Amino acid sequence: MTRSSQSAPRAFVAGWPVAHSRSPLIHRYWLKELGIEGAYDPVAVAPKEVDEFFQNLVKSSEFIGGNVTIPHKEAAFRACALVTDTARRLGAVNTLWIENNQLRGDNTDGAGFTANLDQNAEGWDANPGRAVVIGAGGAARAVLVALEARGFEQIRIVNRTRPKAEALARFLGMELEVLPWENRTRALADATFLVNTTSLGMTGQPPLDLDLSALAETALVTDIVYSPLRTGLLLEAAQKRLQIVDGLGMLLHQAAPGFARWFGKVPQVTEKLRSVLLADLEA
Ligand code: NAP
Repeated sequence: MTRSSQSAPRAFVAGWPVAHSRSPLIHRYWLKELGIEGAYDPVAVAPKEVDEFFQNLVKSSEFIGGNVTIPHKEAAFRACALVTDTARRLGAVNTLWIENNQLRGDNTDGAGFTANLDQNAEGWDANPGRAVVIGAGGAARAVLVALEARGFEQIRIVNRTRPKAEALARFLGMELEVLPWENRTRALADATFLVNTTSLGMTGQPPLDLDLSALAETALVTDIVYSPLRTGLLLEAAQKRLQIVDGLGMLLHQAAPGFARWFGKVPQVTEKLRSVLLADLEA
């Protein structure tokens, strides 16, 4: 069935696996809240089928666009006829839409990261000092570019696999101070901003073993892991009376630009939406 024969616009989240994705919960909440007749569905796309899936999007007209999650963000980037400057810089796309019969893409992870901090720690970037980024995976890419855009010039990065952090610095064309994993605690000396972008601390994963004593007293600590909401890192930072921001807001804010494009209304990230997500995470 083509979309022209359907009344309601339909968007997707594509990943492998995809069942864990909270994106349907977020978009369906906004559809209902804003009274929009539309749909948002998870689509499990196996790696061997991913190129075909993206190629078919324009022809089939089944969807108006969608989100892309692990492990397909690079394949989505390659499939697009046109991407935003941000997506080009990151080499990865998490938001797709069809325009002028073309597949187009953006990457909103970095925008989600900064919007979360803007909402929950106003002025966090007023005097950018030294930032430390733990991790060098896909999410770290977006976080690094976002920090650079907000004026952080001294950024240290620490990753278990050091060559990956070095490769990331080259890929992004950024001057990062890359430190070995064993020195991660020392890397925090005088830092005013710390973010964990690894999966450590997530439910079912080992904790992030890090002594926060060397951080500046004014430091802001944030974690992009949002399950649990208060990770071990955030609990320790709170105990040391450092300012903390959890990662749930990043997830919510990165979803907003796609929703606005597909369904024509700018959605709000509210406490009510947060509580819906929290209830699901705790279920
Ligand atoms: P990824 O590309 O697979 O990168 C994983 C990172 O974690 C790498 O730096 C990896 O280090 C590190 N890591 C994994 N296991 C480790 C271990 N045992 N010890 C030390 N380091 C380890 O994943 P990603 O897409 O960047 O996602 C990372 C996390 O961020 C996930 O938990 C994801 O759910 C979360 N996330 C949250 C949001 C949000 O909206 N809040 C958005 C995106 C991602 P190596 O390079 O050494 O393997």
